[in-house]
Amino acid sequence: MPCATIDGQRIEFEAGLTILQALQGLAIEVPQLCHDERVAPAAVCRLCVVEVEGLPRPVPACATPLLEGMSIWTHPPRIEGYRRTTLSLLARTHPAEVAHLPETPFLRALRSYGLTGELGGASDPSLVDDSHPYLHVDMSRCIYCFRCVRICDELQGQFVWTVLNRGRHTRIVPDSITTLRESSCVSCGACVDTCPTGALEDKTLLAFGLPTSWTRTTCPYCGVGCEMEVGARNGRIVTARPARDALVNKGHLCAKGRYAFDFVRAPDRVTAPMIREGGRWRTVSWEDAMGFVAGRLRETLERHGPRAVAVLGSARATNEENYVAQKFARVVLGTNNVDCCARVCHAPSAAALKAMLGTGAATNSYDDIEQARTILVCGANVTHSHPVVGARIKQAALRGAHLVVVDPRRIELADYADLHLRPRPGTDIPLLNAMAQVIVSEGLVDEAFERERVSEREAFEAFIAPFTPERAAALCGVEAALIREAARLYAQERPSMSLHGLGMTEHVQGTEAVMCLVNLALLTGNLGRPGAGVNPLRGQNNVQGAAHMGCEPSNLTGYVPIEAARARFESAWNAPLPRGRGLDLLEVLDAARAGSLRALWAIGYDVLLTCPDAHTTRDALAALDLLVVQDLFLNETARELGTVFLPVAASFEKEGTFMNAERRIQRVRRVVAPPAGLKADWEVLCAVAQAMGHPEGFRFRSAEEIWDEIRGVWTAGAGISYARLERGGIQWPCPTEEHPGTKVLHSESFPIGRRAALRRIDFHPSPERTSEEFPLVLITGRALYQFNAGTMTRRTLNAELHPRDALSVSQDDARRLALGDGDLARVRSRHGEATLPVHVDAAMRAGELFATFHTGEVLLNQVTGPYRDGETDTPEYKVTAVRVEKVSLDVLRGSAGSGGVTGSARR
Ligand code: SF4
Repeated sequence: MPCATIDGQRIEFEAGLTILQALQGLAIEVPQLCHDERVAPAAVCRLCVVEVEGLPRPVPACATPLLEGMSIWTHPPRIEGYRRTTLSLLARTHPAEVAHLPETPFLRALRSYGLTGELGGASDPSLVDDSHPYLHVDMSRCIYCFRCVRICDELQGQFVWTVLNRGRHTRIVPDSITTLRESSCVSCGACVDTCPTGALEDKTLLAFGLPTSWTRTTCPYCGVGCEMEVGARNGRIVTARPARDALVNKGHLCAKGRYAFDFVRAPDRVTAPMIREGGRWRTVSWEDAMGFVAGRLRETLERHGPRAVAVLGSARATNEENYVAQKFARVVLGTNNVDCCARVCHAPSAAALKAMLGTGAATNSYDDIEQARTILVCGANVTHSHPVVGARIKQAALRGAHLVVVDPRRIELADYADLHLRPRPGTDIPLLNAMAQVIVSEGLVDEAFERERVSEREAFEAFIAPFTPERAAALCGVEAALIREAARLYAQERPSMSLHGLGMTEHVQGTEAVMCLVNLALLTGNLGRPGAGVNPLRGQNNVQGAAHMGCEPSNLTGYVPIEAARARFESAWNAPLPRGRGLDLLEVLDAARAGSLRALWAIGYDVLLTCPDAHTTRDALAALDLLVVQDLFLNETARELGTVFLPVAASFEKEGTFMNAERRIQRVRRVVAPPAGLKADWEVLCAVAQAMGHPEGFRFRSAEEIWDEIRGVWTAGAGISYARLERGGIQWPCPTEEHPGTKVLHSESFPIGRRAALRRIDFHPSPERTSEEFPLVLITGRALYQFNAGTMTRRTLNAELHPRDALSVSQDDARRLALGDGDLARVRSRHGEATLPVHVDAAMRAGELFATFHTGEVLLNQVTGPYRDGETDTPEYKVTAVRVEKVSLDVLRGSAGSGGVTGSARR
């Protein structure tokens, strides 16, 4: 090992360290204001300079590599004098008013040199920008360390902060050159997080003061699963910062994780259970609510049997709560009618991966993004839906990774891509089959991998031969040459990693489309190795966990088929398991409409707002005898149709675990206490189980106790204890406490055997077709600032950043339909209609529309149709034939009189 001497102390060190890293390792402090380990060193503040014997001038420790034989002095008088002078110069022009600011690194440095008295400037109102709902900007406090500029470029890849002018006229301004609100800022807060002076600061800290406690927990939003440090003061969350050492997000968050926490204090938070009587909600005691639910469930079971009841687990609840929910359904209610919202998003991914490879989950990890030479992103607007992963993909592309984007819309990642393939919605299969055809016909198959790990090659080759790029081009609209280029990149510039989203799965061919992606990976040897694999970007934070814990009508905890694990679970639970496959969510709604399903308990799930074909959903829910809704707020389902409402604790208010999209189990910890009387979801379920005469098996005293029972029945998670999770998240399979967890699946073999078979997937187009009457295709999806049903984000200032659902229309269609930005448009399909404002969007192509579905006012799912994936019942949200007409404001005032966005009944 190389050696060096620091302040007279001889040390050995790993090659590749900077002097500053070595000093940090030795706990030797030197002041530094421009350095942040998340970005490349810039050495502009010059405070970390040290003397190196033999060098003529001091060197910046942050940017100088530590070399064999160096002798370094960190605090000689000459250097200390230099630091004092530099700080003193900065202090003289810095606003003296600092009492309202948190203790910043700059103030700490001044204090340590006894220089706070030299603060002599004043805040310049012309440099204050208060336009953003979350960020306060006062550039009079700027010391030009450029950390904000660099972190926005190098971590987020947004390039918002811009340096104007030079010398003493230097100014850092947003790219709008006006206000931050008008800029391209995506509100990730990284610039605030790194700013050492308070020039950029969280408004919540200025309003409510510094946290008095910090708790590490996992973000309650998307399936990335970012870890964060949440600060609280007087029982209120006042800030959330990215955990710097987080394995997933590596010191970064998006606007939702960073700022959208205040929903826990929303004024309409429900704090007591309610029963609807005579059309009105009546607040009742917990005892009455539990007694009512238990009594009505018992009555339903007696009169109609266990197939007449169903439970929906929640992608926003913890693993422990979903485990208890499915155990409750199976043991207490005696039914396998238990499902979760994985049904309407990534059930096709789980089904395809399970069927072809043996494990229904992502094969690789987010860290593979940095190892991949080619990244294939299919049907996922990642910078909006999974922003921290989106930022990592952008950075990988900027560093030279090849990026291929498959998406009908010109999404942000297309700007960073080598190739953007824009298939017509619903035509992924011909496109992906043609890529496979190119790989086979051009001899790009990984022969060694194929010999060892793949079967059905011959039959597949014969099948795929006619799927030429030219034939695909006629179906999907992507030029044959582009398809060839994409196939060559994926096959030749390896390792290649595919990431896909709901744009792949929410189709009638969703499962088969994912199978086509698996075919590509099998053909090219892009499985079982770092930087490769097939990776669904799971939507909600714990949707992978909810299904994996057993909120699934065909599978028990661990995603094992019921019959394969019956004996094991009956023995563990000391109870018989119901026989036969249960009803999935869509079948539950069908059965409710048909009158055979009488009671539904929906946990953390706004079924009415988010299920397709909302008129049918409404009819189904209205036909129930009992609809129990358990959530934080009266969601649309509860508001319109609920019988009982059970309010519960939010994830910031309880303990447990989430499972992210890369199979990582991470801790959820209580940051603040819930409103008085509110319990965690599992506690409510256990109380009702006991009220129904099933105390055994539901006497848990803590989330950890539930987790330990889960580990007892789930072999792949047996090694993941709460004690181990204190040291960071662990990816399953992790069968023993000694096992490190698994970053990459299928390295040696597949759970189904040594080889996986190529699938021959034919293309059957959606029955939803455009026509003269309905000539446009509507795609639905989510936006950066809102999350799914908007239950949480709409109750935060994110609502200011994305106030309403909108209809994105291409410039061509807007011209043809005489629509302008902000006009109201009625979207009609064969299934219903909705009215929403227009956004003329250059990302859209003529003939295609895009709309978000976050608000009950629009209730966009009145427009989407009844068609479903053949394997999993996942609805086709991404293809609806519609027509659009401009709505005169006068007509709207006359008919609805409510703010301009409405839905209406089926034609
Ligand atoms: Fe939360 Fe997802 Fe944003 Fe991370 S990327 S902060 S998990 S919403």
